[in-house]
Amino acid sequence: MYSRLYLHIPFCRRKCPYCAFVSREGNDNDVNAYVDLLLKEMNLAREETPPQQALNSVYLGGGTPSVLEPQQVFLLLGRASQQFGMAQGAEVTLEANPGTVDVQRLAGFRQAGVNRLSIGVQSFDNRMLAVLGRIHTADQAREAFAAARKAGFDNIGIDLIHALPGQTMDMWHNDLQQALQLNPDHLSVYGLTVEEGTPFATAYEADSPLLPDCDQSADMYEMAEALLTGRGYEHYEIANYARPGRRARHNSGYWQRDGYLGLGAGAHSFLRSGGYGSRYSNCADLDEYGADILRGIVPRRDLQLLTRADAQSEFMFLGLRMADGVLFRDFSREFASELADVFPEQLDRLSSQDLLVADETGVRLTRRGMLLSNYVFTQFLP
Ligand code: SF4
Repeated sequence: MYSRLYLHIPFCRRKCPYCAFVSREGNDNDVNAYVDLLLKEMNLAREETPPQQALNSVYLGGGTPSVLEPQQVFLLLGRASQQFGMAQGAEVTLEANPGTVDVQRLAGFRQAGVNRLSIGVQSFDNRMLAVLGRIHTADQAREAFAAARKAGFDNIGIDLIHALPGQTMDMWHNDLQQALQLNPDHLSVYGLTVEEGTPFATAYEADSPLLPDCDQSADMYEMAEALLTGRGYEHYEIANYARPGRRARHNSGYWQRDGYLGLGAGAHSFLRSGGYGSRYSNCADLDEYGADILRGIVPRRDLQLLTRADAQSEFMFLGLRMADGVLFRDFSREFASELADVFPEQLDRLSSQDLLVADETGVRLTRRGMLLSNYVFTQFLP
């Protein structure tokens, strides 16, 4: 069972040196051919995994979905609606790179049915944008945001990255201030991860003096929290802040373990059917992906049927990402067992280490737990 749809668009104008996503440079022909494949995959997926309810959200992610023409987005959303059904008021998000949009194009996306934009700004400092290899400047990011408002978007998120090579606290403070001046509805604030196999991994060793150390990175995280919550944003997930009523519904579905169907090269799916559900990913190689679709085969790889222990572990490390935490009643409804009986040792130890806090309703990360969240999550692994 699934109620959410993710469509992966694996093309970018230029590959950024820090990026480990399934994405590559592509021309108009590549994009056209890929959209055809995605449309075919929707037909196949509908047959293979028929929907049991209409979609509550659709997310076009990438890569750079804003390289699509508005007409292509219209076609994809139309087919999604036809094959899976679209609930009234469904959230439809498109990730946009500021270097690929203008007001006309954005208005086209809005008309095609997109009602939420996520703009990959990353930094308002041109030096940092150059380090990241982004194709846009800070001015272009501001222009893209203004153009999106003009095109009729009333739900816009901005992504920022901190702990960048050479970034100081002042530079990060300035990034946050610049973002706040735009008054976005949502902000995602990530710390840079140097991913294996990327040019960044060659350029910056783990202990490179060019990268802010752990303490500085934690200070940057706390600076973001203080500034953004001070301006009325709700810190509702480890890396996400929203104006009231503007939480990202699609992404919240991931943390709440809603079922989702991921289509496109490298997309991941989680289906809540059969026992404790299953996860799988699509083939990430574009040629293999295309060959499977053209032969009428669902390009599924790495199918994992979750055990009860897997599902309980996920329930914890996904649920704890949210400020609301994991509610005792939700855990017992899902597993017909009490949280305190399943993870007694973890709850005691992590509480005594000031990483988790419990009250009569449930458990959530403390401020220290948010900073050390990866450690906390590993404690719940089967
Ligand atoms: S634009 Fe985004 S997806 Fe594309 S290469 Fe850069 S970081 Fe990766």
